Amino acid sequence: MKLHIGIDDTDSPAGMCTTYLGALLYRELSRIAEPLDLPRLIRLNPNIPYKTRGNGAVAMTFEADEEVVPEIKDTVLFHVSRLADFSHENTNPGVVFFEGEIPDELREFSLKALREHVTIEEAEKVAREIGAEYFKFKLGRGIIGSLAAIGYPLERFTYELLVYRERDYWGKPRAVEEESVFLADRWAYPFSYDNVDPYKGSVLITPHGKDPVLAGIRGVDAGKVLQVFEMVEFGEPVAFCQLYKTNQNTDDHLTPKKIGELKLYDSAVVRGRVAGPYWERGRHVFFELEDGTGKIRVAAFEPTKKFRNWVRKLLPGDEIITAGGVKEHEGVLTLNLEKLYPVKLVPKIEYQKPKCPKCGGTMKSKGDYLKCKRCGYRMPKKLIPVEVPRGLERKIYEVPPDARKHLSRPLVLPGGENKLVGLL
Ligand code: ATP
Repeated sequence: MKLHIGIDDTDSPAGMCTTYLGALLYRELSRIAEPLDLPRLIRLNPNIPYKTRGNGAVAMTFEADEEVVPEIKDTVLFHVSRLADFSHENTNPGVVFFEGEIPDELREFSLKALREHVTIEEAEKVAREIGAEYFKFKLGRGIIGSLAAIGYPLERFTYELLVYRERDYWGKPRAVEEESVFLADRWAYPFSYDNVDPYKGSVLITPHGKDPVLAGIRGVDAGKVLQVFEMVEFGEPVAFCQLYKTNQNTDDHLTPKKIGELKLYDSAVVRGRVAGPYWERGRHVFFELEDGTGKIRVAAFEPTKKFRNWVRKLLPGDEIITAGGVKEHEGVLTLNLEKLYPVKLVPKIEYQKPKCPKCGGTMKSKGDYLKCKRCGYRMPKKLIPVEVPRGLERKIYEVPPDARKHLSRPLVLPGGENKLVGLL
């Protein structure tokens, strides 16, 4: 029989990681049942407030004999109760078991959990209707992610190799030979990507929290990902590692929407016109976008760094396509930019002083007059309108790697533009 297992919400900023639990279980359960494919790391709606980091849930599927199913379920529940960080208020684990083929209703629920906000009650209703067995710990919010991860149609996927630390090292600084990561990246890029930030000269594979992850190596080619791991020199022992199939970097979360349809926590692609000049507050850059259905505030927040310079070049009237998540910022519904595509730009006119009609010299403003610096010729101040370059191209701009959402597809990968130009 086909048995699907979903786990979510076992971690907190103080420790643990659902992928660690998933990797341990995948190893242990593979001894008593046949794994069908790799375990899956499914990122769900990146805008919901309960997430610890990247709103990831884990699912795996086994072909299991009827008689070992109770042992499998006991093993999963035992490890979740043993390892989940119950002390944290925001950790509310959930485990789901489902037998058989994935029904359409469950697929739809998964896509809703990816793109919108869903409630624990909705998850329970779907679980009851399809006959899934679920276990809630504390509030049990994790059943949302567990159920969604099981039903997720992973049609597009990438890989992430998760490398775990020995227990003695949890909470200590991570040690990795930086030059080895740069070397491996040069060799594997772009089949393995996000290993380093070339602009900052920093290593991206090592997280910074107290969780058991030593490194995460991403790619579209599983072989290359494993070889990057072989090439990287770690300054501490590796406990074990697990390759996951994942919906990271697929842009699956984005759906085209009109401004009037946007709701809190949506992830959307929106086409519109820049409604007014940009403004800045606390190093964040904002502007308003409008279409026939409404107006929304759009933001490039401080962590998007140089990406903000492209936003500063926008002018009222520009027609653009934006992609991002809807969140509330200072009580205002705000589209948090992930990608930006200038489609049709208004001309930028600057008024310049003419050259001196007598000697060709440079004119200087003197009140209502212009005076030639070279020959002293004076004439009434009449400026000439000149169209100047906008400094923006008709191409997609994206936020830098360390500000990118897990689900967002980097432009270096094939299809990184599709969701914005309407190909998907
Ligand atoms: P990590 O990435 O380190 O695993 P996390 O960011 O995944 O941590 P979780 O601890 O899994 O954070 O918390 C996310 C919680 O939000 C889970 O309980 C999950 O079930 C729930 N959740 C996921 N998607 C949605 C959604 N669309 N609407 C409402 N709740 C959701």
